[in-house]
Amino acid sequence: MNTALLTIDDFSSGNTPAIVDYLKEKGIKIIFFATGKNVEEFYEEAIYAVKSGMIVGNHSYSHPHFSSLTPEECFAEIEKCEQVLDKIYKDSGVERKYRPFRFPYGDKGGENKDIIQKYLKDKGFHKVDDRHLTYPWWKEFSLDTDIDTFWTFDFAEYLIRPGSDVTKESVWEKMNDQNPQAGAALFGENNRHILLLHAHDETEELVPEYYKQFVDYLLEKGITFDAPGFITD
Ligand SMILES: [Zn+2]
Repeated sequence: MNTALLTIDDFSSGNTPAIVDYLKEKGIKIIFFATGKNVEEFYEEAIYAVKSGMIVGNHSYSHPHFSSLTPEECFAEIEKCEQVLDKIYKDSGVERKYRPFRFPYGDKGGENKDIIQKYLKDKGFHKVDDRHLTYPWWKEFSLDTDIDTFWTFDFAEYLIRPGSDVTKESVWEKMNDQNPQAGAALFGENNRHILLLHAHDETEELVPEYYKQFVDYLLEKGITFDAPGFITD
């Protein structure tokens, strides 16, 4: 059986309520990773997701490359997003139980990696439960001990843009690639996944309800969706 936890980055967006409604209809619980900036821009949409019981994690305030910042600048990015997230939970009247974090672009900060991991740990960010992931590279890149939430499969649907070679069809090919360059094959004998998708209105314009098309396909292929779990001390 193939199982997966779905994560959706760059929350919030105009299409967020439609994504939430679709996931609720399918009974799929996910983690949204938010930038503070996008939540400020699409505030009501963000409230809608939190009120619907979706977990929203921190994806920095303005989505920079962390390896180009000083540690202090990284902490400020994380802190500024925290303040925005605390506010949406408060305004939604929902208790904020879990605080997962994902680096923009998966950029863990280069030479400052260890300092930032220590910061995340000290600040009480929650590590997503990944103890069921057995890919050798997961350990090799110390993803098993890092606090932030990495992924095992990236749809890369955000690359579907006017003039780009990436199309809905190439995402389909990627989903069926048995030897991907990065991450693990989506479908296998007993593959477990953390999937990465994005809440982008630009993709919605080119491929309406793209999230539904991809997730429906996964469901058709027999993938079971895991509810978010966390390793708490
Ligand atoms: Zn992102």
